[in-house]
Amino acid sequence: MQVYILDSSAIFLRKGLYPSMLTVSRVLKEIKDDESVNYLSLIDIGVKDPDRSDVEKVKRVARKTGDIYKLSETDLDLLALAIEIKREGNEPVIVTDDYSIQNVARSLGIKTDSVVQKGISKKFKWVRICKGCKRRVDEGRICPVCGSEVYLVRIRD
Ligand SMILES: [Zn+2]
Repeated sequence: MQVYILDSSAIFLRKGLYPSMLTVSRVLKEIKDDESVNYLSLIDIGVKDPDRSDVEKVKRVARKTGDIYKLSETDLDLLALAIEIKREGNEPVIVTDDYSIQNVARSLGIKTDSVVQKGISKKFKWVRICKGCKRRVDEGRICPVCGSEVYLVRIRD
């Protein structure tokens, strides 16, 4: 199974919805604007922090590639989480535009997906749709008409 690991920019730009999404708690601490917090509350994203041993492994590789001083603690955590996902037999894809993360990921044999390249090529916006009656809902997580949960759909702007 592919597991998408989102960095902060992927959440700020509301890059997209993937079947399986994860991030680390340091990313959530960086997310403060209302729009992004609201987006996070609507998408189904798991939060998991990596083992220290995996963080050390990332540091070793980053020293070799020369990226160690460009990677933040958050970046190291995202990469280390990807190692764990891979070890569990899943395929991690880190969603990021950070060159150093991409570079170290490549050395670790981990895929990356660009945020801006695909996210901005077509203008789009997210709308909330009711799971029950398929009505478009302006705000909140519950349909005011039938009481069902809402989900997000990306449409061309
Ligand atoms: Zn409804």
